[in-house]
Amino acid sequence: MTSPETLKIPAALLPRDGRFGSGPSKVRAEQLSALVADGTTYMGTSHRQATVRNKVGEVRDGLAALFNLPDGYEVLLGNGGTTCFWDAATFHLVAEQSQHLTFGEFSSKFASCVKEAPHLKEPMIIKSEVGTHPLAVADDSVDLYALTQNETSTGVMMSIQRPSGAQGLVAVDATSAAGGLLVDPSQFDCYYFAPQKSFASDGGLWLALCSPAAIERIETLASSGRWTPAFLDLKIALDNSRLNQTYNTPALATIHMLASQVKWMNDNGGLEFSAGRSRTSAEILYTWAEASPFATPFVSNPTQRSNVVGTIDFSEDIDANLIAKILRANGVVDTDPYRKLGRNQLRVAMFPSVDSEDVASLCACINYIVGNI
Ligand SMILES: *Cc1c(COP(=O)(O)O)cnc(C)c1O
Repeated sequence: MTSPETLKIPAALLPRDGRFGSGPSKVRAEQLSALVADGTTYMGTSHRQATVRNKVGEVRDGLAALFNLPDGYEVLLGNGGTTCFWDAATFHLVAEQSQHLTFGEFSSKFASCVKEAPHLKEPMIIKSEVGTHPLAVADDSVDLYALTQNETSTGVMMSIQRPSGAQGLVAVDATSAAGGLLVDPSQFDCYYFAPQKSFASDGGLWLALCSPAAIERIETLASSGRWTPAFLDLKIALDNSRLNQTYNTPALATIHMLASQVKWMNDNGGLEFSAGRSRTSAEILYTWAEASPFATPFVSNPTQRSNVVGTIDFSEDIDANLIAKILRANGVVDTDPYRKLGRNQLRVAMFPSVDSEDVASLCACINYIVGNI
């Protein structure tokens, strides 16, 4: 008998597009052709001139429309991705003390940045078991609440609400949530993300939707005398963003693909449309797993199961890594679990670009593999 790894999945079962990675994630073919079409007039031109600046303006206006931002909210951007934004936030968003909800790899990372910042007080950390999320607790000494709308490492989502009675800013890591989950902008002051997930672009850029209170915080801290590296200076980012520029040179293709995706979402009905696509995919995945004799949704509370990143546990007699390997050999890629979680699990991205029929095909492929190894 041939080894299971060479198992060939019948073509009729395969998804049309086999990209299920949680970041970088599927880029739609239309985004790539739009980039090629503008190739010689856009790529390789100055980011200080109108062609690129108008594209940045398109992204900023498009995001303001997509998220229905109230008057006074502004869209900031800069280089370095979300990880860089955490460091910037330790200088220009946290005044003295922050509170962090930590329930996985990504939500813990921002807390660690704050912990190590010598100019800030010890952060208040509220933790819960992986596969669940904790709740924020209003506290008078907290000036920033750090929430994560979707914990990409575990597939847990949480709804974004200001903790009742809280005075501080609410900052939300929405790196994998933005565009794929609904959110009410009155419930946040800073909603930040990077474009390589629901926005189906490339990494290396951060974007932040900021309320007037967040802008005021940035301005106050920037004039407070706190030493700040220029690259992490949110006042410099604010000033550049208002001119549709970034402090240093951005990746132009990233901005172009991001603009295409935002336009696609807005043209088709906005956040209801894009979040609806993820919701439909998630229903398919979790319904399949709940009915399956060998698969179970990892997140036990159905309301916390993410619509954008699904985590599925497998029974002991089935090796999830082998399934991921066979899928990969058949062109269905990046369903591997988050490495540090260490579970017998597959992780499936269901960002708006992913077609729900492809999620259904993925489930059929897994059934076929399990039945044939
Ligand atoms: C991917 C991800 C990050 C890291 O984003 P980078 O742009 O790679 O720094 C942070 N937080 C969450 C929730 C993520 O999903």
